[in-house]
Amino acid sequence: MMNNSNLVKIAIAGNPNSGKTTIFNELTGARQHVGNWPGVTVEKKTGEIEHNGKSYHFTDLPGIYSFSTYSQEEIIAREFITKENPDVVIDVVDASNLERNLYLATQLIEFERPLIIVLNMMDVAEEKGLKIDTEKLGVLLGAPVVPVVGRSGKGIQAILEKIDRIAENISQKSRHIHIEYHRDIEDAIENIELLLQEKNIPENDSRWKTIKLLESDAAVHSEIENLGGIPILEQAKTTIENLEKRLGKPPSDEIIDAKYGFIQGAVRESVKQQKIDKKDISKSIDLILTNRYLGLPIFAFLMWAMFKTTFGLGEIPMNWIDGLVGFLGDYFAQILPDGSLLQSLVVDGIIAGVGGIAIFLPNIFILFFIIALFEDSGYMARVAFIMDSIMHLIGLHGKAFIPMLMGFGCNVPAVMGARILESRRDQILTVLLNPFMSCAARLPVYVLIAGAFFPNQAGNAIFAMYLLGIVFAILTGKLFSKTILKGKSLQFVMELPPYHSPKIRSILLHTWDRGSIFIRKMGGVILVGSILVWSLSAFPQNVHLSQNYEEKIAQTTDSAEIEELQNAMSAETMEKRWIGKIGKIIEPTIAPLGFDWRDGVALVTGFVAKEIVVSTYGVLYGVGADKTEDAPTLREKLAHSGMTAIVAFGFMIFTLIYTPCLATVAAIKRETSWKWAGVSVGYSLGLAWILAFLVRIVGDLII
Ligand code: GDP
Ligand code: MG
Repeated sequence: MMNNSNLVKIAIAGNPNSGKTTIFNELTGARQHVGNWPGVTVEKKTGEIEHNGKSYHFTDLPGIYSFSTYSQEEIIAREFITKENPDVVIDVVDASNLERNLYLATQLIEFERPLIIVLNMMDVAEEKGLKIDTEKLGVLLGAPVVPVVGRSGKGIQAILEKIDRIAENISQKSRHIHIEYHRDIEDAIENIELLLQEKNIPENDSRWKTIKLLESDAAVHSEIENLGGIPILEQAKTTIENLEKRLGKPPSDEIIDAKYGFIQGAVRESVKQQKIDKKDISKSIDLILTNRYLGLPIFAFLMWAMFKTTFGLGEIPMNWIDGLVGFLGDYFAQILPDGSLLQSLVVDGIIAGVGGIAIFLPNIFILFFIIALFEDSGYMARVAFIMDSIMHLIGLHGKAFIPMLMGFGCNVPAVMGARILESRRDQILTVLLNPFMSCAARLPVYVLIAGAFFPNQAGNAIFAMYLLGIVFAILTGKLFSKTILKGKSLQFVMELPPYHSPKIRSILLHTWDRGSIFIRKMGGVILVGSILVWSLSAFPQNVHLSQNYEEKIAQTTDSAEIEELQNAMSAETMEKRWIGKIGKIIEPTIAPLGFDWRDGVALVTGFVAKEIVVSTYGVLYGVGADKTEDAPTLREKLAHSGMTAIVAFGFMIFTLIYTPCLATVAAIKRETSWKWAGVSVGYSLGLAWILAFLVRIVGDLII
């Protein structure tokens, strides 16, 4: 890091009038040299002192508000820091005007150079009644923060001590903070960063240069051009255009918003008694939405409204799709040879299985739409604040709640989303708790079971699942953080980006991004799963039944008796086919829960993907084609399957708690290790079993 073991180069940056020159004078005393930066009339002040047997060489950079390239001053300061590579960069910040001044700091953080933040004008800040927790601010910003009063020289010694530590390399590497941008931007950064690294741009420069490219920065643009990186520039250009379409604003605006969001969050956590500027709408909204007492009830209400809307609005298109699926079933039943295997495969396998899921697409899309609305409006970021105290109960940071909330959509990206947590322990714990967040794939199972067994209370029963998921996540978090994952969470900034009126286009795109995964799933894993379950239920084709049902059916005219005989025939047939044999093997392990072999088969196939539980029931109960107008639906068949309401509730809880799907297990393994993936599967299966068992025991006692 050091170019010469005896020379320490220190650059002093900061906004105009933050007190740079005052501090520079205090640090260097009389030993100054005043001149101009080469080729321009901007004043350059340098000074040198001997300290601890080393030569400390200070440069007072021109005062700037940002590192764009609109002015000579900005170019000079930026080139000095990124090309001359000073050993230490000091950012002089006016503490009485913290938020505005920290904007430069967010850019310096991105330069990934050793940084000291000097909070100057502490006297003015105190007069204004600001109480700044400098220690905490330092932790949040990932750089030491030194409070000083430049005018009186108070704190100057502490600056020298911090420089010493960096020069001696003894400061524990202050943890590196990334300012996280919108995930679309992060994805873009990841791609372009790699291209820059291929052009031999060092790792500590690739991120900020990429960000500058996305901001259409002229200097980085010409640098890349000179390196022969025209294709990179072209890619950056299309990326910017795509981002603008997706975000509804240029990425440069989004980047600035995110930086201010980062600052807002950091200031909110480290500064007490801030005066609220009445003109700042975001802050005024936050007074209510993140209020200590109102925040949580409002959040709970919004969650409730989210699920209410998901089901209420979903009902209508659900009926249309249901009609379409029924029509397709009838159609294929007619055009394919009656009683043939092909007819059965298409109607009882594919249409019953895939169609059974298709009807839940409206619910899934509405849910994703609302989640995107929360995200794009800026509310999602507040949820971290609101949930912070609750999350601390389980040894996690409020920020860990964001991936949890994402889990209501789908656990797979949510598990990956836990990467935003810096500590490994926090990340692992968040990953392990995520599957308890009831994903959209579990919704079809709840809707089916609740509709069959709690027709008047379906909405409440389903909402109860989501609540129970959160409750068990909290209890599990408490258990794990006391046993296998001891520790406290690290502190870091919970960004408070400004609120936006959401852009419909961008929300629709995000909804489509996530929702279309389910459509692809229907053509992939659900299709394959349905065919597999159908095959197991169709072979061996000829089974020996205990009585001649068909003859008996032909003999009677009583329609109730006919239906009973038909059901008994298909039940016995299924039992004697492979699927029944497999189910019978599973049955003893789940019999204590009141589940029968069909439920067992449904749960086992649900390991692959939760929706397949519904597909499996569809196939097992043969509801592919509405062979007659008033043929019973799957819901009705289940309601008359002999399962009691208590057992059905236990089944819903089992579905909620046990492993969501193979893709989630794979994601957990990828983000943590086989060990934790194993813990997740084992623990959730065990807990699911115990809970379903308790539901049955307690339920039987009460009723
Ligand atoms: P620069 O533009 O960043 O170089 O800022 P200067 O060092 O020229 O300081 C700007 C003004 O702030 C001057 O009038 C200083 O006297 C004043 N100043 C600097 N530090 C402090 C401080 O800690 N407290 C107060 N009250 N004033 C300060
Ligand atoms: Mg000055």
